[in-house]
Amino acid sequence: MEVLLTEQERMFQQQMRDFVEAEIAPYADEWDRRNELAYEAFQKMASIGLAGLTIPEEYGGQGGSMMDAFIASVEFARASISVASIFGTHTGLALSGMYHYGNEEQRRRFVVPAAKGEKLCAYGLTEHEASSDISRMSTTARREGDEWIINGAKCFISNGDTADTILLFATVDKQLGSKGITAFVVEKGMPGFSVGKVEDKLGIRAESAAELMFDDVHIPVANQIGEVGKGMRIALTILDEGRLDVSGQGVGVASAALDAAIAYSKQRQQFGQPISEFQGIQWMMVDMATAVDAAWLLGYRAAKLADSGVRFTKEVAQAKLFAANTAMDVTRKALQIHGGYGYMKDLPLERYYRDAKILEIYEGTSEVQKLVISRALLS
Ligand SMILES: Cc1cc2nc3c(=O)[nH]c(=O)nc-3n(C[C@H](O)[C@H](O)[C@H](O)COP(=O)(O)OP(=O)(O)OC[C@H]3O[C@@H](n4cnc5c(N)ncnc54)[C@H](O)[C@@H]3O)c2cc1C
Repeated sequence: MEVLLTEQERMFQQQMRDFVEAEIAPYADEWDRRNELAYEAFQKMASIGLAGLTIPEEYGGQGGSMMDAFIASVEFARASISVASIFGTHTGLALSGMYHYGNEEQRRRFVVPAAKGEKLCAYGLTEHEASSDISRMSTTARREGDEWIINGAKCFISNGDTADTILLFATVDKQLGSKGITAFVVEKGMPGFSVGKVEDKLGIRAESAAELMFDDVHIPVANQIGEVGKGMRIALTILDEGRLDVSGQGVGVASAALDAAIAYSKQRQQFGQPISEFQGIQWMMVDMATAVDAAWLLGYRAAKLADSGVRFTKEVAQAKLFAANTAMDVTRKALQIHGGYGYMKDLPLERYYRDAKILEIYEGTSEVQKLVISRALLS
């Protein structure tokens, strides 16, 4: 697969692999057991400029491409989907949204410190009663003079309990449905803003998912991102970028599981021979490897389209859908090849298996990806 990458992209991939092997992989199980956002992972990525990977250098970033973001997600997720999610939420969703839709003053105020890794960001869209259908959101923004007053709650927000800066979506008028949704920046410490329940989850336990509460939070009009009523479009456009990261996460965790299964099958003996000699095991690994390559190719195509500046909504939905399926299937088969040892916490297989499930849920469930793809096919 690497042959399809440019020399520069291959160099970046190698740098990422070295960094993840040295700085992330050795701690991934410990962070998972700790069951809280691995802030040191964010600090480590910030220390080498990854916090602002796709943000132009003049705004504190690295000026990387969407292909770089895809490569980074794959490499992070080989070690930990949690860490890939901290990166994807911060850079691919929140920071990217503030950069693309913020004005010059907002870029200086919000994007530069976050791209340098001095501030952690979150993306607040989902609510208890409005998620797959976000047009029914009920967090409100009421204009009073030169301020907006925010009331409501968001749930399941990644990085949410720790984030300094939240790209938040609220409606200026519920009757307007999707046309009332508007984007804002809320900052930690603003009176009336608090963190509610921090979820105890099946997987990605080194990433947080928090409830955020807004009780008469006064924010300056200067924190409004884009035009009033254009928030739905902003949210969905940013999600295309986020879904590319998620497709990379699927490829990464599935590759790690496949590598582990191949190595184990060659070493584990049963019936007087390595289990890799059994055709039942070989065919499982053939299906796994073929799916991993296909998932990589779909992500690669979506990243290429994104970097060419053409719309890639359908292609990235296909990439995310397929990568999520692949991650579920490959981690299950890899655990099976490890037998009972795969079920134990001494090996990372059970973590891969638990972590993979989130890929079918966040940034639009697999059913929602099918809605997006079928709409494009039938339009
Ligand atoms: C760990 C975690 C982290 C998250 N991080 C963030 C974050 O950082 N920011 C954020 O804003 N959100 C975040 N989310 C929210 C996530 O995006 C939502 O959970 C997701 O969009 C699904 O919403 P829901 O859970 O309410 O399910 P629902 O929308 O209630 O869906 C329930 C089921 O119905 C299906 N369904 C819904 N509509 C249709 C349809 N039209 N056709 C067929 N089936 C349908 C769904 O696919 C699903 O299977 C996170 C969620 C989790 C679990």
